[in-house]
Amino acid sequence: MTRYSISLVNGDGIGPDLANSGRMLLDTITDYSGIKFDIVDVEAGDNALIKYSKALPDFSFDSIKKSDVCLKAPVGEHAADVILVLRRHFELYANIRPAKSYPNVKSLHPSVDLVVVRENTEDIYLGWEFPIGNDAVIGLRLTTAEASRKIAQYAFEEAMRRGDKKSVVCVHKSNVMRVGDTMFSGISKEIARKFPDVEFSESYVDACAMNLIRNPEKYDVLLTTNLFGDILSDEAAQVVGGLGLAPAGNIGKTFAIFEPVHGAAFDIANKNIANPSSMFLSIKMMLEWLASRNKNNEETKLIEVGTKIENTLVGLLRENLKTIDIGGNLHTDEFTKNFISKLIL
Ligand code: ATP
Repeated sequence: MTRYSISLVNGDGIGPDLANSGRMLLDTITDYSGIKFDIVDVEAGDNALIKYSKALPDFSFDSIKKSDVCLKAPVGEHAADVILVLRRHFELYANIRPAKSYPNVKSLHPSVDLVVVRENTEDIYLGWEFPIGNDAVIGLRLTTAEASRKIAQYAFEEAMRRGDKKSVVCVHKSNVMRVGDTMFSGISKEIARKFPDVEFSESYVDACAMNLIRNPEKYDVLLTTNLFGDILSDEAAQVVGGLGLAPAGNIGKTFAIFEPVHGAAFDIANKNIANPSSMFLSIKMMLEWLASRNKNNEETKLIEVGTKIENTLVGLLRENLKTIDIGGNLHTDEFTKNFISKLIL
């Protein structure tokens, strides 16, 4: 039996509440499913900066490096000093953000099931901004053929894995960014030729933002660049009922970090009202990723437990057992307790 070492970043704002719910779920899986997790708590974020003068202290970084995979609760004001550093270090080139409608959660359409596949290492996120005197700034945006190719390949493979609609829409703004985004879209077309079973189309980002409201159920895989993916995935999360249900994965060749899409949500911190579903669904994604790398025939078990996590959530929502953000009255700890006791492994 493999033991998986999970580094668990506790984060800021609602982060510790979500990390706590996530830990309870992982402990339950360890106790009942036969899959064993060793959880290593990791300090990173605003609180770590105050305590150790560094948002990602070296010992925290080392713990993450030693683990098999990282589960991260949201970090506050210094998120960039944590997640951007980790994405760069582990070359986590793909940011995967699914958005799905669930029963009894207000969605613009009852059958939305899409995923934003966002390039995760380039674009304006390199922080290349240069003041020109006191009243102007030049910002640089990087797009490379290599990163574009890797993310396009991932998007088409994801469309094949998901199976149902098998479609990829490449989202860009090549009518304005005529060099960078024309290259990005050109490469996606090139990769599309290798996947004849996947329907391929393109969309300008402004049109896509509109159609996500108008016909969200039509989308399957949205392939896009870093900034557009950041914005569209928050929009997609809201289309299906809010950030409280939005998980994400940062995937590289040998390592991955799973985390809720949302930030530290300081407005609801320390009130015990955060929705831990984003964390539970991030754990489901983590199990699927571990399954994809598994060499000990535990693949089926990992996938099975992931599916049970989602089914448990669906079961609770059907009974209208919900947190406050999506119209229910359960607090974080109550929802977590209900979730754990309904999850029969
Ligand atoms: P960031 O800029 O760090 O990405 P954001 O702009 O996505 O953050 P958040 O703080 O993540 O903003 O969330 C926006 C709002 O959504 C919050 O103010 C909060 O009300 C709500 N929200 C986010 N996550 C949750 C959650 N897990 N449960 C309940 N409400 C949430």
